[in-house]
Amino acid sequence: METSWNWLRRVDELCQRRSIRWLGFGLRELFNFLIPTSCAVCSRADFRLCPECRREIQSQLFMPPLPDGHQHYVELPLLAHQLSVSSCGIYGKELARAVLAFKNKQRYFLRTVFAPYLAAVINASSIPQPGQVPTLIVPVPSSLKAVGQRGYSPVLSILQQGMRNGLYSEQLVCRSVLHYRVRSAFGGAQKLKSGSARRGSGKHFVAERAPVSGAPIILIDDVLTTGSTLRHAAMACHEAGYDVTLAVVLALTKPPNQEPEQ
Ligand SMILES: [Zn+2]
Repeated sequence: METSWNWLRRVDELCQRRSIRWLGFGLRELFNFLIPTSCAVCSRADFRLCPECRREIQSQLFMPPLPDGHQHYVELPLLAHQLSVSSCGIYGKELARAVLAFKNKQRYFLRTVFAPYLAAVINASSIPQPGQVPTLIVPVPSSLKAVGQRGYSPVLSILQQGMRNGLYSEQLVCRSVLHYRVRSAFGGAQKLKSGSARRGSGKHFVAERAPVSGAPIILIDDVLTTGSTLRHAAMACHEAGYDVTLAVVLALTKPPNQEPEQ
């Protein structure tokens, strides 16, 4: 158990090393230079993101105060309470295409579009702790399979962009304390749906032990669909001694009982 997350942490650290990040960045830029580019959303030639699509995405993402419908609750039955989730946007239209391009089509630059919104909602959601205790902002990790395919971890890269640009309040510290368990790392959380996984234990994830019991955490993910991934992540953090009552996501899918967007 100890060895498994030590090993995963070493892989994480390797992926985050400055030299590796720069190598990845250089290769992506070279690729963009060699292959004529097109808009990540509408495929129009000569733009990485055309002005119209940029405007549309920016009109679909919100900074606080968030409009109605951007707040959601994920049940944590084993803890008998709810995880409050704030969302920058509603998943659909140009925003959905941009998120998919960012996650699945190597459009890494889109992190700069998303970073200010995620940072603003995280800053507004965080509750200042007495005695200057930092709140950890913790990305829900990508599986190693996904990182291997993309070359980056989408949520972590948006957070790191915000940190580099100084968008976060001083009491917030970004830390990747959550990891996939080894047997889930190559598949992903969506694959295992049976038994305790569905009921909401931290089955897929393991978190590094909290420095002090009850250390506050805000969980961050890209898209909230069923809430199952956040539920597992929250349980793993709880089991490691953290206090997690808040989560922030980039986009929220509408519950099935609501009218689909036109
Ligand atoms: Zn476009």
